[in-house]
Amino acid sequence: MMKRALFTAAAMLLMIFTSVLWAQRPNVYILATGGTIAGSGASSVGTNYTAGQVEIASLLDAVPQIKEVANVVGRQLVRIGSQDMDDATWLLLARRINELTSSDSVDAIVVTHGTDTMEETAFFLSLTVGTKKPVVLVGAMRPSTALSADGPLNLYNAVVVAASPQSVGRGVLVAMNGGVYSAATVTKMHTTNVEAFGAPDAGAVGYVLNGEVHYILPLEHPDDSLHFSVAGLEALPRVAVAYGHAGVSPDIIEAVIGSGYKGIVYAGVGNGNIHKDILPVLEEARRRGIIVVRSSRVPSGPTSLDNEVDDARYGFVASQLLPPQKARVLLMLALTRTDDWQQIQRYFNEYR
Ligand code: ASP
Repeated sequence: MMKRALFTAAAMLLMIFTSVLWAQRPNVYILATGGTIAGSGASSVGTNYTAGQVEIASLLDAVPQIKEVANVVGRQLVRIGSQDMDDATWLLLARRINELTSSDSVDAIVVTHGTDTMEETAFFLSLTVGTKKPVVLVGAMRPSTALSADGPLNLYNAVVVAASPQSVGRGVLVAMNGGVYSAATVTKMHTTNVEAFGAPDAGAVGYVLNGEVHYILPLEHPDDSLHFSVAGLEALPRVAVAYGHAGVSPDIIEAVIGSGYKGIVYAGVGNGNIHKDILPVLEEARRRGIIVVRSSRVPSGPTSLDNEVDDARYGFVASQLLPPQKARVLLMLALTRTDDWQQIQRYFNEYR
């Protein structure tokens, strides 16, 4: 009898202890979108695989250590390779994160994502999600079936970053291969290596080691960041990216004019320079009210105002430190608010 009472009391104490621990851990909500982190292939050593095959529940089961860091809930939003990411999914994702983070029961968000367009999604979310709670994107370079898959540790590290109070107010982050990067400056730098991400102009903001995040860079002033509401948006204005190169032909831009595009980002050479045969076509685009942003195909450094190109004369916008793929994101969102090129230039000037 006595033994039984002691056993019941011990079991109750254990339950109370466990529930106190549970209550102390942050609640991290994981939204899964697919990518190589959820990829599966026939061979554990080959490079042939299909992205977005494995459900988030299975990915979480593979990393039970996550439960010691946070209370996690995983939900599948879409299951795609991120080469197929589109504006509609971005709007869905931003709205879902805004909803979730407005609830007291969610402390942070992790988004699992393919690496190909991760930097674009991260940047889009950084402009459209209005929360100080951590939002962290994570992916993998090797599929879940690979020998030495990088997904499990990357996922664990992403939850560590999301669960840390130090990540509050840092905007949208990317956690890859031990590095922590800011959405505005991160970019994919290698097509196959697990060390695929970097931020050539700014560097990593921090790193994860032994289950702890360490920040190298101080917190940026959060009030400086731009924010665009996507609450009532059905779609985003169309913006095309055209790539500059030696011998580029004007018909690539002519095809864009008159096709319903509201903006063109020209990935120019050098400091966003434009071939003499392209310039008149871009001037024509301006005459038709299309916003033209000059960016650069060079991986680092700004596309700065009024260097070899007289932006004020043509009414062109310089992308500053944003590469073409991120300039497109900011231009789409800017166009939901204004078609005044000078105002749009002021938005881009936030990224100097
Ligand atoms: N194509 C994949 C994707 O972006 C590549 C990856 O996740 O690493 O979904």
